[in-house]
Amino acid sequence: MQTITLKLGRERSVQARHPWIFSGAVLEFPDNVDQGALVRIENSRGEFLAIGYYNRESSIAIRIISFEETPIDRDFFIQRFQALRALKERFVSQIISDSYRVVFAESDGLPGLIVDKYAATLVLQAHTLGIDLLKPLIVEALVSVFKPDTIYERSEVSVRKLEGLETRPQGVLFGTPPNLIKIHENNCHFFVDVVNGQKTGFFLDQRDNRAALARYVNTGARALNIFSYTGAFGVALRQAGAASVVNLDRSESALILAEKNYALNNIIPTREDEFLLADAFEYLEDRTEETPAFDFIVLDPPAFAKSRTEAGVALKAYTRINRLVLKILKSGGILATSSCSNVITEEDFLKAIARAATQTRTNLRLLEARSAPPDHSFAVNFPEGRYLKFLIFVKE
Ligand code: SAH
Repeated sequence: MQTITLKLGRERSVQARHPWIFSGAVLEFPDNVDQGALVRIENSRGEFLAIGYYNRESSIAIRIISFEETPIDRDFFIQRFQALRALKERFVSQIISDSYRVVFAESDGLPGLIVDKYAATLVLQAHTLGIDLLKPLIVEALVSVFKPDTIYERSEVSVRKLEGLETRPQGVLFGTPPNLIKIHENNCHFFVDVVNGQKTGFFLDQRDNRAALARYVNTGARALNIFSYTGAFGVALRQAGAASVVNLDRSESALILAEKNYALNNIIPTREDEFLLADAFEYLEDRTEETPAFDFIVLDPPAFAKSRTEAGVALKAYTRINRLVLKILKSGGILATSSCSNVITEEDFLKAIARAATQTRTNLRLLEARSAPPDHSFAVNFPEGRYLKFLIFVKE
């Protein structure tokens, strides 16, 4: 393993256990280090700090995977995965779900790596060259710890470009090719399509929020679930007694699966537009004062901001879409509104919603400010891992 020395004083972030080392902190780049290789990081006095993987193409030159001096081999990953499994299953027990995020990248000490468990299938996502190169060891260790039927890779993510990677691999890494997987979550069952679905196939991070929201459902409520994807919120609301849910999404395949998810839970659609293929903004702008209003609205859009520079524009978009839904929410109705952009703080998100309330002359009362579940929790040394906001309001 080659050694990389940091500039004097630049070891501070490593001592604070932050996993990123920017290229500006490196004293000099040795030219004999292979791209993506593991490196030993030392301070300017030659003392060991950490082990990470190196990429000169990225502004984050090194991502740390160990703060201890230890061989990075199959056993290293076995121990990591065993520890993560114990931690996650302590908080997401089999009674709650058979599915959870096993590895949440930096937040779980393994930058660049996502692993989601869906029943007996694992889905892996590699964001970096360093992880691409460690993949064979990672797969071996996952097999040893989880004994899965299948490990499937879904690495078609744009962040790989920042690492200078042209390839976006997808396919079977271990076991049999996956079919539609059936998972359970609280008292609901869902199909997950890990091959064609979005991200790794399902939004596990809203598990606890779905359960929390279900507690506010009045029997007979008419709900609108915008950005429904495969209808997970819709199923949870119907299970809790809602009379109908309009699940709106622009992805036809997501809605087809939503329909299957209804059937899987023995829920019979009660209105024609319970699965509505439409653009959310167009649909909402077409609503008029006469449009029948809803008792319950869920708004769970994709991230409007992917970087800090987009935050201002994104906040305006959050205000706009929340303003549009407030117009069709009945008084006494519930609004659950979410943002998964990590560059937007809860405080700023709350302000964006407050602006929407002012613009529509609505009194909104915050019932719950929620976040991500324990399997998507962030470590305090890596606040960048805090991303999910889920606010539940009542309209007075
Ligand atoms: N609430 C879902 C996850 C939502 S993911 C769950 O709990 O599973 C975001 C969804 O928004 C995706 O399904 C995507 O197809 C959809 N989407 C993105 N932009 C959209 C738009 N402009 N109009 C409608 N749907 C959109």
